[in-house]
Amino acid sequence: MKVRSLSHVSIAVRDIRSSLDLFSQLLGAEKGSVERLESQGVLYAFLELPNVRIELIAPLDEDSNLNRFLEKRGEGLHHLSFAVNDLGKVLDDLSSSGVRLIDDKPRTGAEGARVAFLHPDSTGGVLIELEEE
Ligand code: ZN
Repeated sequence: MKVRSLSHVSIAVRDIRSSLDLFSQLLGAEKGSVERLESQGVLYAFLELPNVRIELIAPLDEDSNLNRFLEKRGEGLHHLSFAVNDLGKVLDDLSSSGVRLIDDKPRTGAEGARVAFLHPDSTGGVLIELEEE
């Protein structure tokens, strides 16, 4: 796999609006709008920095998988997202070289991007998202 760039760093939070205020103030970064990603059960918003974006994600409701993460680990770093070309082929290549995937096919992520997650068992415990450029 050849990564093009770090697309964003994602932080799990409980309250998206107060966290957006906090990180915007902390980083001096412009706040994006709060959006819903129903398929993942999350609310998300981006903060724009000169070389990377920070994504905040919060559970949409009690059924969201993100609640389990927050209960176990609390608020904090959730995943790193790397931009790649030809995500479908990257996933096939990773899979055939024995990397465990959460998504073996691209799915729709934030802002309608094609994304897929790799399993932390294969990535040194870091949840990694790949996003098609
Ligand atoms: Zn992400």
